[in-house]
Amino acid sequence: MNRAIEVLVPKEIIQMILESAKSLHPKETIFLLRGKARKDKIIISEIVIPPSATYGKGFASLPMFMMPIDFSIVGTSHSHPSGSLALSVEDLNHALGKIMLVAAYPYNSVECLAVYDRRGEKLKLRVT
Ligand SMILES: [Zn+2]
Repeated sequence: MNRAIEVLVPKEIIQMILESAKSLHPKETIFLLRGKARKDKIIISEIVIPPSATYGKGFASLPMFMMPIDFSIVGTSHSHPSGSLALSVEDLNHALGKIMLVAAYPYNSVECLAVYDRRGEKLKLRVT
């Protein structure tokens, strides 16, 4: 685990991620995460819904060309209806931004979340 970097996520955003994952289950939800990247931490301030055509179809289908050219996007969040908190090969191949947040079924609490850097190293998640 890369403990040097902490990812700070407001409680409301955590709740929104968990609730949408729950309501779209068994489909996959995807969000873009907007925020600020510092040397030792990444502060998430907002979640953005990607273009609707891709919604619920899986993270790997999020087309790069539809991504907003927006450097305040620090990463993505997506759900794993399978219940696994681990990243898949597809996740790593399609990493956008600095971090990837994964919400795993049954989406009940922070225990169902994990955050990784783009190389797949687990980062520390702090709810603010
Ligand atoms: Zn995934």
